[in-house]
Amino acid sequence: MDYKTIIEPFRIHTVQAIDLPNLAAREAALERAGYNLFGLHADEVIIDLLTDSGTGAMSSEQWAGMMCGDETYAGSRSFFRFEETVKDITGFDHVIPTHQGRAAEKILFAVAVEDGDVVPNNTHFDTTRANVEYRGAEARDIVTPGGTDPATILPFKGNMDIDRLRSTIEEVGVDRVPLVMITVTNNSGGGQPVSMANIRAAREVCDEFGIPLYLDACRFAENAWFIKMREEGYEDKTPREIAREMFSYVDGATMSAKKDGLGNIGGFLALNDTEWAQTARNLLILTEGFPTYGGLAGYDLEALAIGFNEVLEEDYLRYRIRSTAYLAETVLAGGMPIVQPPGGHAVYLDAAALLPHIPSHEYPAQSLAIELYRAGGVRGIEIGTVMFGRRDPDGGPDEPAAMELVRLAIPRRTYTQSHIDYVAEVVIDVANRAEQLTGYRIVEQAAWLRHFTARLEAL
Ligand SMILES: *Cc1c(COP(=O)(O)O)cnc(C)c1O
Repeated sequence: MDYKTIIEPFRIHTVQAIDLPNLAAREAALERAGYNLFGLHADEVIIDLLTDSGTGAMSSEQWAGMMCGDETYAGSRSFFRFEETVKDITGFDHVIPTHQGRAAEKILFAVAVEDGDVVPNNTHFDTTRANVEYRGAEARDIVTPGGTDPATILPFKGNMDIDRLRSTIEEVGVDRVPLVMITVTNNSGGGQPVSMANIRAAREVCDEFGIPLYLDACRFAENAWFIKMREEGYEDKTPREIAREMFSYVDGATMSAKKDGLGNIGGFLALNDTEWAQTARNLLILTEGFPTYGGLAGYDLEALAIGFNEVLEEDYLRYRIRSTAYLAETVLAGGMPIVQPPGGHAVYLDAAALLPHIPSHEYPAQSLAIELYRAGGVRGIEIGTVMFGRRDPDGGPDEPAAMELVRLAIPRRTYTQSHIDYVAEVVIDVANRAEQLTGYRIVEQAAWLRHFTARLEAL
């Protein structure tokens, strides 16, 4: 008999206690944090879905690998293991370790991007956008039509709009487009996958104009699984074969190993261009460290070399994608509108649809995220106008973000089905009393990446 329940393909080996503070304590915590969930302490949260970045559980193999970490400053054995694994999966000539994804972005854009340039991407992640803008360039999102409509169901809703890629290059001129990026999966667009055909089509356009194409590869294994499940011709290929093909169409990649590296810290920049790699290594030495450790301990490199292989195992990916879909289906059936279809690493609640009485400039997604915490101690993250809206220089209402979402990101191999059932219960309870939620205003904010530190007040 084929049983249909997809179980966690691991058993628990070490545990960490979690606990729910009472309502008064949660309300006091919110006030202290300025209604910004980044200001909460771990002890104040029972189920933490703020991010899937670096929050996953490592395997016993990874922990054992850490004991073999080689802390040699230059030429560590652990670096060569890391490099070999990354080369085996990506095929790139140069592998530059970094302490996390944004360090790889900062270095890549310092090498490639100048003031006045335009970088097209299906959807820039927040740190990617900030690092492009920090160079004085424009970060332009050109996701496929329907990609920003939560209700539209498409198999590859993270695809790049290839027509707009071409028209963008023609409009701004080849000289001002130093590289094109594709984010797999499209994190800020709902964790949606990108098809192999789309990566190939972007490659063709880039070839036509002689522009390098890069992947923001943070969730390359999840994207490979979606291709296997949804794209014709890939059903019999392994996730590793699919990942290799994805990387074969691009000139390089930035990676946060805190995602599909199954690590708690780490990343890399990998590329084929020897000149860019040389400049990148020099910049790496300036801020991250020598090119054979790049801001990581030898034991981190060791754990990541093992993680990059574990993340491509079919049992793991089947469970990963299915358990995310399970949360999505449960809350949707209970009345919470979500981004459809569910993405790989997270469920995105559609606050604009749930809270039509709160306008964007009063941050409906922030209001929903706050209530999920207040009601059940569950922490998600606003991906809406607080994160991506533009502040009006004259003090008027913010220019709204494309969507008002609350992301519930699922840490890898960390929570069980009963934890997820509890989260669903909290989400459904809040959905059923949506009309009671009110808007917020920002009372304090930074010039960039304001969502990390802004303080808010209820209206
Ligand atoms: C997390 C992430 C980054 C940045 O990586 P960090 O390790 O957090 O610096 C970049 N792009 C995407 C799509 C991400 O999800």
